[in-house]
Amino acid sequence: MLIVQKFGGTSVGDLDRIQNVANRVQKTVNEGHQVVVVVSAMSGETNKLIAYAEHFSATPSVAEVDMLLSSGERVTASLLSIALNEMGLPSIAMTGRQAGIVTTSRHTKARIENIDPSSMQKAINAGKIVVVAGFQGVNEEGMVTTLGRGGSDLSAVAIAGALKADLCEIYTDVDGIYTTDPRIEPKAKKLERISYEEMLELASLGAKVLQNRSVEMAKKLNVNLVTRSSFSEAEGTLITKEENIMEQPVVSGVALDRNQARVSLVGVTDRPGIAAEIFNALALEEINVDVILQTVAHDGTTNIDFTVPTNELENAKNIVKSFVEKGEIKSSDYNESIAKVSIVGVGMKSHAGVAAKAFSAMAAENINIRMISTSEIKVSMVIEDKYSELAVRALHSAFELDK
Ligand code: ASP
Ligand code: MG
Repeated sequence: MLIVQKFGGTSVGDLDRIQNVANRVQKTVNEGHQVVVVVSAMSGETNKLIAYAEHFSATPSVAEVDMLLSSGERVTASLLSIALNEMGLPSIAMTGRQAGIVTTSRHTKARIENIDPSSMQKAINAGKIVVVAGFQGVNEEGMVTTLGRGGSDLSAVAIAGALKADLCEIYTDVDGIYTTDPRIEPKAKKLERISYEEMLELASLGAKVLQNRSVEMAKKLNVNLVTRSSFSEAEGTLITKEENIMEQPVVSGVALDRNQARVSLVGVTDRPGIAAEIFNALALEEINVDVILQTVAHDGTTNIDFTVPTNELENAKNIVKSFVEKGEIKSSDYNESIAKVSIVGVGMKSHAGVAAKAFSAMAAENINIRMISTSEIKVSMVIEDKYSELAVRALHSAFELDK
């Protein structure tokens, strides 16, 4: 198999750990696989370089910031390659440019546009282990760019896609994706497999492990992703196409989002187009509206409730105010002490009674559900924040995720 292995900052955090990575790579090679490695900078290094730049300027020029930041990953790529060569494993280190990664021009937030894998492929064909500096590429003008914080995951997935690798393994200090946050429910189990769609919906469970952008890219490029720990031999979690999952549990995981606030609009003029106006105004400010609830109109007005991320609440309030001033909304109310719990599973598509079971689990704990929203593979409930952990445990056990 051709395997892309990506090692994050903590996995290459010091020289011993880089040696540990070299040993891991050797093990994979000895198992008969071809390996391309993508590395992050040593943990803390990128922050240190940013601080260096800010020593000279509060607004350092972005092209130079990119050249500076790209050096962190070059250090680890070169050192790992030196270690591998010393172990008798022929290896070559490559920058983003050498690996053929072309990005948009947007410095510090570039997107990968295209990868020409021919240099990497040539080295692989010559029996070499290719070690690529993650997080970077070059734009059309040949200027060095970086992909945004945490971007070396994206490098790895994109490279795996371009090389048509069989597997892309993301190594961190966490050993996989769990059915829920083990700090809330110690009985949480590590998932063997999960679909891209479920992973995207369970983002909060993967937050420390994988960026959503990387999962989206893996889905688009059809890359089989594995998240696993570089500090243990434990098998990780495979994130793959739904078809590759034989036994589809009705519910795969329970996610909790405590960073939601509820906006209640009272006495909204009941006329065609009003919802469009309000939500367009929110969209223009890039406010991510989640659960929406509208009540049946009465006396020519209606009530609309919705949730937004807590850090976007102030922005939302300003927009609501403008509608109140125009006389389109009578009054508004806000509540930050809410949370959203969600159950996610592709098996829901073919099972009835999933929502009913979730609501019963809430009822048994006397938890009042304030809002509900569903999709094909998800049921979300907005509840009072103080019940969040209880709700997660109740759902986890109702759907037998601890079994
Ligand atoms: N070194 C970069 C960062 O700290 C990229 C990465 O680690 O993925 O954001
Ligand atoms: Mg990282």
